Parts: sequence; C-alpha cells; structure tokens
Amino acid sequence: MSRYTGPVCRLCKAEGVKLFLKGDRCFTEKCAITRGETKNKQRRGRPRAKMSEYGLRLREKQKLRRFYGMNEGQFRRMFGEASRMSGVTGHNFLQLLERRLDNIVYRMGLATSRSQARQLVLHGHFTVDGRKVDVPSYLIRAGAVVAVAENSKEVAIIRENAEVAASRMIPEWLEVNSERMEAKVLSIPMREQIDVPVNEQLVVEFYAR
Ligand code: SF4
Repeated sequence: MSRYTGPVCRLCKAEGVKLFLKGDRCFTEKCAITRGETKNKQRRGRPRAKMSEYGLRLREKQKLRRFYGMNEGQFRRMFGEASRMSGVTGHNFLQLLERRLDNIVYRMGLATSRSQARQLVLHGHFTVDGRKVDVPSYLIRAGAVVAVAENSKEVAIIRENAEVAASRMIPEWLEVNSERMEAKVLSIPMREQIDVPVNEQLVVEFYAR
C-alpha cells in the first residue's frame, strides 16, 4: 500500500490528536489541532456519535500507524514480529516502532519530523556503529551509536536542525553528543518512556480479530 502524500494536518484532524507530522509548526499556535481546541473552548460542540468497538480499535490503529508514518503493509508485518516475541505484545510493538532508525534520528532532534528523518536516512546521511545505513526501518539495538555521517555534517538542513536540537525534548534513553552529532541508545524504552497518545491494547485487539 502506498504512503499517504496529502495534507498531513488532515490526518491529525481525523484522529482528533496531534500526531506531530509537520515539524516545528506542530509546536506553535498555528497547529490546526491547537487552533481547534481553542475554538472548541469558545463554543459548545454537539456530542459525537458513539463509535462501535471495531471503529474504536480501527481509529487507534490508524493513529499509531500515522504517528510513525508507516504504510499498512510494513506496520502489519512489524505487529506480526511483535506478536511472536515473548512479553506483552502491545509493549513489544511500541518498542519495535521506537527502535526504527528514522524514529531515532527524529528523537535525537536532527529532523523536525519522522518523514524528514526518513528522507535524511534514505539519502545516506547516517551511520550506525560507524557503518552507513540508509534503511529507515533498520532496527537499532541498545548500546548502538547513531551518528551523522562525516561527509554529511555540513548539509544545511542537518546543521540547522542540530543548532536547535538542544531545545527539543530528547528522551532519557538516548545520550546525545551534540558536538559529535551522535547519540548512544542507552536502553530500549519502557512503555512509560514512550509518549505516543494511543491505547496499544486496542491496536492488539484490532489485529487479533
Ligand atoms: Fe498539523 Fe502538526 Fe498540528 Fe498535526 S500536530 S495538525 S501535523 S501542525
């Protein structure tokens, strides 16, 4: 299934939450969801029609898939991998999503969105443990070091992002060295360290139906 290329704010509006798909704009008053919340406070909306159980699970699955910017095929395959692992499937799934190289680049603050991170990885701007990796879905393990490739350190967009990276929220499971433009993955994040606005159990139930 192809990747969605239309207006991304529409996806947030469909899910009713911020999915952070548009870079720095998501953190400003220009965000469509922020503006909508302000308007809703000003006027009383009609109550929403009750959603079916299936609808609830579908929406939660779509929300999570869009949050990480994946197409359905990749997303379903990764869920399959999570369900074969020991432990809680929902937590395994979130951990696998967080371990993707494009997500780590975004979490390091070197991209303004996961889609920009994906592009930067595809263009070969990053290394993992010193080896160039240009596969956004590459899974990073604990202890690995993700870095900007030596000859990519002067790329304008990477430089610009690196300059403001310190002002972004870097998760505690990453140890960022801004000078070297690299980060060490200290550990695979626990559920409480993953800030995705979803109930992953509903996603598990969606695929288990
Ligand atoms: Fe648009 Fe970002 Fe706001 Fe979503 S969070 S509505 S992508 S500005």
